[in-house]
Amino acid sequence: MKNIKDYNLEELKKEFVEMGEKPFRAEQVFKWIFEANVTTFDEMTNISLDLREKLKQNYTLCIYNVIKKQVASDGTKKYLFDVLDGNAIETVLMQYHHGYSICVSSQIGCKMGCKFCASTGIQFVRNLTSGEIVEQLLAVEREENIKISNVVFMGIGEPLDNYNNVVNAVRIINNPKGINIGARHISLSTSGLVPQIYKLAEENLQCTLSISLHATTDDKRSSMMPINNTYNLNLLLKACKDYIEKTNRRISFEYALAKDNNDNLEDAKRLVQLLKGMICHVNLIPINKIENGTYTKSSNENIIKFRDYLNEHGIVATIRRELGSDIDAACGQLRRKNLKKIEK
Ligand code: SAH
Repeated sequence: MKNIKDYNLEELKKEFVEMGEKPFRAEQVFKWIFEANVTTFDEMTNISLDLREKLKQNYTLCIYNVIKKQVASDGTKKYLFDVLDGNAIETVLMQYHHGYSICVSSQIGCKMGCKFCASTGIQFVRNLTSGEIVEQLLAVEREENIKISNVVFMGIGEPLDNYNNVVNAVRIINNPKGINIGARHISLSTSGLVPQIYKLAEENLQCTLSISLHATTDDKRSSMMPINNTYNLNLLLKACKDYIEKTNRRISFEYALAKDNNDNLEDAKRLVQLLKGMICHVNLIPINKIENGTYTKSSNENIIKFRDYLNEHGIVATIRRELGSDIDAACGQLRRKNLKKIEK
């Protein structure tokens, strides 16, 4: 059965026309799914019984139920969802003063192999479809009875390695007739898939691009992130410059500080040189130690020094608040290893 949440509005209209239905019916159904967040076709009361029946026979609404929910001392919540094929994924909800932000997974597992990330070493299973990505947000909104205002693609997976589904999910989330979250409130984070960064620049999306940079020399970056052997710093930063030029959007660089690894003043100096002249922002993340991981967090003092150096040299840098670390819901801590196959 097809997942009706996989279709953006234009595609859904095409589906309806193929079924012999009027395009405006597709728009009504789209609103029921993404604006009203219904869980059954029978709730679509302005749709005829005949059409509801046809929809039931051909499509699923892909409804996720929370299997497990953990609440951190700071209020961050982590959900475990059964994606209905026996696999499980994790999604995190964070509350900020400006609203709720959700961190969604884009793949079951990840192929990137970053040394500091808990998703590493876990077998890659498959890409999530657009509908499966969007349903994480809808399921949390139903569970908590809230409206989410920000979406970050920073859960499990490399979003740009699942390019089409992720871009389509962004379009669905962004559509004013449905979930209606502004593109500027949606962030895609990538370990640096250069060809896809060039492609994304052509999509005419206004979402924020985050680049997981983490190091300032190729040797260091390759030792932390194998993807750097394919697309080195030079190629990556060139793609970033092109992205900024084409989209006029500021890029956010993620830099996870690990003690005695990438956190000294020489690194900060090189970072200033690398990013000089770019419209950007640096997000400093105190690295979260993962099980059996070699990297440990930099001292607070060092992190502040690093930030101050960047700020004093013309690079806007902030330190990311650590949310959800006591429930393994902080950056890079989501791990499928602990997630049992769900017994059917
Ligand atoms: N694959 C994408 C998105 C998922 S990771 C990417 O690489 O960007 C989201 C962010 O968390 C990335 O910036 C990633 O580098 C960072 N991260 C991963 N493990 C971490 C850890 N142990 N501590 C701090 N940040 C981590």
